[in-house]
This record gives sequence, structure tokens and C-alpha cells, in this order.
Amino acid sequence: MIPLRRPEADDDLLRQCADRTKRIQKLGATSKAAQSQWSAGTAEKAGIRALLFRMAPGVGRCMYCLNSTGTDIDHFEPKSRRPLRTFCWHNHLLACSHCNSNYKRTEYPCDDFGQCLLIDPSVDDPFDHLILLPASGEFKAKTRKGEETKRAFGLNDRPELVYGRQDAFIRCCDVMVGWHGCVVRGDLGGAERRAHALHREPFADVLRAMEDMARLPHASLVLGSNELVEAMEAWLSSSRGTMPERRLFAVPPSRSETPAVPLRTHD
Ligand SMILES: [Zn+2]
Repeated sequence: MIPLRRPEADDDLLRQCADRTKRIQKLGATSKAAQSQWSAGTAEKAGIRALLFRMAPGVGRCMYCLNSTGTDIDHFEPKSRRPLRTFCWHNHLLACSHCNSNYKRTEYPCDDFGQCLLIDPSVDDPFDHLILLPASGEFKAKTRKGEETKRAFGLNDRPELVYGRQDAFIRCCDVMVGWHGCVVRGDLGGAERRAHALHREPFADVLRAMEDMARLPHASLVLGSNELVEAMEAWLSSSRGTMPERRLFAVPPSRSETPAVPLRTHD
């Protein structure tokens, strides 16, 4: 996971969602009422989907695993737990069907004070709670929230994710050094293409981990080569980094990049 900045929803969408919430309230604010209104809310879901694709990492990737294409509108706090948050824009994240149906489902663990113990990447910086070791492809938890998130999403238990991060690390290292070479040679077109390639990679958390590693005093030891450290330092000073305020809309999604798959709408 990486931190994501949530764009503002427009007034029309907010009004439509508020109307749906009123209907759920009138129907008794039950889980059944929430589900029926959600099923009927085609226009609202289309608006929410468009916004979620704007804030998704890479090219419409799942906000939890960062690997598969995001296909589902996930209710971070499940509809069954809080029916009146069914149409709350701040409760929506983009998930792949595998994460949504097999891992997140209706998970919403809380501590003794009622605070959710799952990372919401639109609110939390996941790296405050998790450390990604890109060479091994595995996460280590820094906090209880990190531990619960790692468990709930099977972040270290799914071979396709662990191997995928390992492979992404190799690709990112190669492309990063290539990007720096283009910058040094003055090949701005080549640099631009490589920067876009890095931002479109699945496993955007690998690049974010590399950026954090490059800031360490012993960066060459953890990144493995001075060439890569020099490239990363140039990358960070070029405002290309993946922190939301820098990354957001660096690669605006086009129509052709929006997957033409039907959007599932489970919890
Ligand atoms: Zn996923």
C-alpha cells in the first residue's frame, strides 16, 4: 500500500449520495436497506468509480495489493456494520475482486477504543505501520495496525504478491538507473518515458520503499550500489517521488487506461 490522496467529489455526486443515504435511513438503516440502495445506485457507483480510478495507484490498481486491476468498490467500513456509510465517499476504496472477496470481505477489526486496526491508505501513510523489504518482497509490521493489515490482506501469504514485489524491485532498479542515465545525457524524452513506466508499475509500494531507503544514511548498503543511490537521489530531488502531493496525477489516467471490465460492488 501507498498513501493516496482522495479527490473532492463534485456537488452532484454528493447530493445523489446524500439522497440514497436518506432512503436507507427511511427504510430503517438496516443492512438489507443499504444493499438494496447500493444495488440500485447505478449513477452514484459510476461517479464513485471514476473518482476512485483517479486516485488509484499505477493504472487503476487495487489499493490494497497494488497488483491486480481494481474492479470492486470496497466499503472500507462494511455496509453491514454501518449501513448509513454505504454512500459515504470517504468510505470507498478501489479493490481487486480477489482482495475484496477473499481477504477484506467484511473485516473491520477494532481496538478497545473502537479505532479500526486496518490501514486506510486514503487516511494513513501505510509506511507508518509497515516496512517493505523489497529484495525479499515481504512486509514487516511496525505497529498493531500494520500487523492486522498484513494478516487481513495476506500481504506476505500470497506468493504472487511476494514474488511480484521481488520482480518489481529488479525492474524498478534497472529503470531507475536508466532514467538517471537519460537525465545525465539530456535525453528528456527517454527520462520522461522511464518516469512514467516507474509510476505505472504494479506494486507502487516497492518504489516508495526504495525512496525511503535512499534517504537513509547507509543508503548504498541497503540499495546495493552507488549507481542506484545516485539515481535515487536525483529522482527524489526531481519531485518525481511517490508521495501523494508529488505523485498525484503525474500520469493522468486516460480513457484507454480505464479497464473495460464490469465493476463489482461487493463490500
Ligand atoms: Zn488486490
